[in-house]
Amino acid sequence: MIERLCVKIPDYPEPGVLFRDLTPLFGDGPGFNRTVQALAEAFEGQFDCVAGVEARGFLLAGGIAHAAGCGVLPIRKEGKLPRETYRQPYQLEYGTATLEVHTDALPRGTRVLVVDDLLATGGTLEASGHLLHQAGLHIAGFGLVMELTDLRGRAKLGGHRVRALYRL
Ligand code: IMP
Repeated sequence: MIERLCVKIPDYPEPGVLFRDLTPLFGDGPGFNRTVQALAEAFEGQFDCVAGVEARGFLLAGGIAHAAGCGVLPIRKEGKLPRETYRQPYQLEYGTATLEVHTDALPRGTRVLVVDDLLATGGTLEASGHLLHQAGLHIAGFGLVMELTDLRGRAKLGGHRVRALYRL
Protein backbone atom coordinates (compact mmCIF):
# COMPACT_ATOMS: atom_id res chain seq x y z
CA MET A 1 0.00 0.00 0.00
CA ILE A 2 2.82 2.42 0.88
CA GLU A 3 4.59 1.77 -2.42
CA ARG A 4 1.36 2.17 -4.39
CA LEU A 5 0.56 5.49 -2.72
CA CYS A 6 4.08 6.94 -3.04
CA VAL A 7 4.75 8.99 -6.17
CA LYS A 8 8.32 9.20 -7.45
CA ILE A 9 9.29 12.62 -8.79
CA PRO A 10 12.51 12.68 -10.85
CA ASP A 11 14.78 15.73 -10.58
CA TYR A 12 13.00 17.26 -7.58
CA PRO A 13 13.93 19.46 -5.74
CA GLU A 14 17.01 19.50 -7.95
CA PRO A 15 18.41 17.60 -10.94
CA GLY A 16 19.51 14.06 -10.17
CA VAL A 17 17.30 13.62 -7.07
CA LEU A 18 14.41 11.12 -7.12
CA PHE A 19 11.93 12.54 -4.59
CA ARG A 20 9.41 10.21 -2.92
CA ASP A 21 6.13 12.04 -2.38
CA LEU A 22 4.05 10.41 0.34
CA THR A 23 1.22 12.95 0.33
CA PRO A 24 -1.02 10.53 -1.68
CA LEU A 25 -0.66 8.02 1.20
CA PHE A 26 -1.58 10.75 3.70
CA GLY A 27 -4.58 11.69 1.56
CA ASP A 28 -5.93 8.13 1.44
CA GLY A 29 -8.18 7.28 4.42
CA PRO A 30 -7.31 3.58 4.76
CA GLY A 31 -3.68 4.27 3.83
CA PHE A 32 -3.20 6.98 6.43
CA ASN A 33 -5.11 5.03 9.07
CA ARG A 34 -3.04 1.85 8.56
CA THR A 35 0.20 3.84 8.54
CA VAL A 36 -0.59 5.59 11.80
CA GLN A 37 -1.83 2.40 13.46
CA ALA A 38 1.26 0.45 12.38
CA LEU A 39 3.63 3.05 13.85
CA ALA A 40 1.59 3.35 17.06
CA GLU A 41 1.61 -0.46 17.46
CA ALA A 42 5.34 -0.77 16.72
CA PHE A 43 6.11 1.34 19.80
CA GLU A 44 3.05 0.46 21.89
CA GLY A 45 3.59 1.07 25.61
CA GLN A 46 7.02 2.62 25.00
CA PHE A 47 6.21 6.34 24.65
CA ASP A 48 4.38 9.11 26.49
CA CYS A 49 4.41 11.71 23.72
CA VAL A 50 4.99 11.82 19.94
CA ALA A 51 7.35 14.38 18.40
CA GLY A 52 6.83 15.24 14.73
CA VAL A 53 9.49 16.90 12.59
CA GLU A 54 8.19 19.89 10.61
CA ALA A 55 6.27 19.58 8.44
CA ARG A 56 5.16 16.14 7.26
CA GLY A 57 6.12 14.62 10.61
CA PHE A 58 3.41 16.78 12.21
CA LEU A 59 0.72 14.91 10.26
CA LEU A 60 1.96 11.54 11.44
CA ALA A 61 2.56 12.68 15.02
CA GLY A 62 -1.00 13.95 15.36
CA GLY A 63 -2.46 10.68 14.09
CA ILE A 64 -0.22 8.44 16.21
CA ALA A 65 -0.76 10.52 19.34
CA HIS A 66 -4.52 10.38 18.82
CA ALA A 67 -4.38 6.60 18.36
CA ALA A 68 -2.28 6.22 21.51
CA GLY A 69 -4.15 8.79 23.59
CA CYS A 70 -1.11 10.98 24.22
CA GLY A 71 0.11 14.45 23.22
CA VAL A 72 2.40 15.84 20.52
CA LEU A 73 5.67 17.76 20.55
CA PRO A 74 6.43 19.91 17.48
CA ILE A 75 10.08 19.92 16.37
CA ARG A 76 10.15 23.10 14.32
CA LYS A 77 12.35 24.86 11.84
CA GLU A 78 14.28 27.87 13.10
CA GLY A 79 12.36 30.96 14.22
CA LYS A 80 8.88 29.47 14.42
CA LEU A 81 8.52 28.84 18.16
CA PRO A 82 7.52 31.85 20.28
CA ARG A 83 9.30 31.08 23.56
CA GLU A 84 12.81 30.05 24.68
CA THR A 85 14.15 27.13 22.65
CA TYR A 86 16.93 24.62 22.38
CA ARG A 87 18.53 24.80 18.94
CA GLN A 88 20.27 22.16 16.87
CA PRO A 89 21.96 23.06 13.57
CA TYR A 90 22.53 20.22 11.12
CA GLN A 91 23.98 19.64 7.70
CA LEU A 92 21.88 19.63 4.56
CA GLU A 93 23.20 18.51 1.19
CA TYR A 94 23.85 22.19 0.47
CA GLY A 95 24.27 24.39 3.55
CA THR A 96 22.82 23.96 7.02
CA ALA A 97 19.45 24.17 8.76
CA THR A 98 18.40 24.44 12.39
CA LEU A 99 15.65 22.67 14.34
CA GLU A 100 14.20 23.87 17.65
CA VAL A 101 12.00 22.76 20.56
CA HIS A 102 10.72 24.78 23.51
CA THR A 103 12.99 24.38 26.55
CA ASP A 104 9.99 23.69 28.80
CA ALA A 105 8.03 21.56 26.32
CA LEU A 106 7.76 18.41 28.47
CA PRO A 107 8.85 17.19 31.93
CA ARG A 108 12.38 15.78 31.92
CA GLY A 109 12.44 12.02 31.42
CA THR A 110 9.30 11.94 29.29
CA ARG A 111 9.55 9.08 26.75
CA VAL A 112 9.24 10.59 23.29
CA LEU A 113 8.69 8.77 20.01
CA VAL A 114 10.07 10.83 17.09
CA VAL A 115 8.35 10.45 13.71
CA ASP A 116 8.88 11.68 10.17
CA ASP A 117 7.82 10.57 6.72
CA LEU A 118 11.18 9.49 5.33
CA LEU A 119 14.70 8.63 6.51
CA ALA A 120 17.39 9.54 3.99
CA THR A 121 20.87 10.52 5.26
CA GLY A 122 19.63 10.64 8.86
CA GLY A 123 20.72 14.24 9.53
CA THR A 124 17.22 15.45 10.37
CA LEU A 125 16.47 12.72 12.90
CA GLU A 126 19.97 12.87 14.35
CA ALA A 127 19.44 16.59 15.02
CA SER A 128 16.00 15.84 16.47
CA GLY A 129 17.56 13.31 18.83
CA HIS A 130 20.17 15.85 19.97
CA LEU A 131 17.39 18.34 20.69
CA LEU A 132 15.47 15.86 22.84
CA HIS A 133 18.70 15.06 24.66
CA GLN A 134 19.26 18.79 25.37
CA ALA A 135 15.71 18.96 26.73
CA GLY A 136 16.35 16.02 29.08
CA LEU A 137 13.84 13.80 27.30
CA HIS A 138 14.11 10.06 26.74
CA ILE A 139 14.13 8.92 23.10
CA ALA A 140 11.67 6.03 22.84
CA GLY A 141 12.62 5.48 19.19
CA PHE A 142 12.28 6.75 15.65
CA GLY A 143 9.28 5.87 13.48
CA LEU A 144 9.27 6.37 9.71
CA VAL A 145 7.00 5.54 6.84
CA MET A 146 9.90 5.02 4.43
CA GLU A 147 13.67 4.47 4.67
CA LEU A 148 16.18 4.82 1.84
CA THR A 149 18.60 2.16 3.10
CA ASP A 150 21.40 2.99 0.65
CA LEU A 151 21.97 6.29 2.45
CA ARG A 152 22.64 4.55 5.79
CA GLY A 153 20.81 7.15 7.86
CA ARG A 154 20.08 4.56 10.54
CA ALA A 155 23.77 4.53 11.50
CA LYS A 156 23.46 8.12 12.74
CA LEU A 157 20.69 7.30 15.19
CA GLY A 158 22.91 6.12 18.02
CA GLY A 159 21.55 2.64 18.61
CA HIS A 160 18.02 3.84 19.27
CA ARG A 161 15.16 1.71 18.02
CA VAL A 162 14.26 2.62 14.42
CA ARG A 163 11.15 1.25 12.73
CA ALA A 164 10.48 2.06 9.08
CA LEU A 165 7.29 0.62 7.58
CA TYR A 166 8.79 0.42 4.10
CA ARG A 167 12.51 0.04 3.40
CA LEU A 168 14.04 0.30 -0.03
P1 IMP B 1 17.66 13.26 5.90
O1 IMP B 1 17.91 14.30 6.93
O2 IMP B 1 18.68 13.23 4.81
O3 IMP B 1 17.42 11.88 6.51
O4 IMP B 1 16.33 13.67 5.13
C1 IMP B 1 15.10 13.42 5.70
C2 IMP B 1 14.28 14.67 5.72
O5 IMP B 1 14.17 15.21 4.43
C3 IMP B 1 12.86 14.35 6.17
O6 IMP B 1 12.33 15.42 6.92
C4 IMP B 1 12.11 14.13 4.89
O7 IMP B 1 10.80 14.62 4.98
C5 IMP B 1 12.91 14.93 3.86
N1 IMP B 1 13.16 14.15 2.64
C6 IMP B 1 14.33 13.83 2.09
N2 IMP B 1 14.17 13.14 0.95
C7 IMP B 1 12.87 13.00 0.78
C8 IMP B 1 12.05 12.33 -0.20
O8 IMP B 1 12.51 11.73 -1.20
N3 IMP B 1 10.71 12.40 -0.01
C9 IMP B 1 10.16 13.03 1.05
N4 IMP B 1 10.88 13.64 1.98
C10 IMP B 1 12.22 13.64 1.86
